[in-house]
Amino acid sequence: MKIKCPVCDKYADWSDNPSRPFCSQRCRNVDLGNWFDEDYRVAGEYVPDPEQNQPEQNSH
Ligand SMILES: [Zn+2]
Repeated sequence: MKIKCPVCDKYADWSDNPSRPFCSQRCRNVDLGNWFDEDYRVAGEYVPDPEQNQPEQNSH
């Protein structure tokens, strides 16, 4: 089963996808980023994504 990511409109597998309804943790973060902007890495939920090039977290 495929789902359409609401963030980037890519299709992704539904099963075995901890980031659903998003295609990846990155897109999930993009969505959450609306509120978590800088500190969007949720402990315990980070899933490495090879396509992802995460910037180092800025500390103020
Ligand atoms: Zn996506």
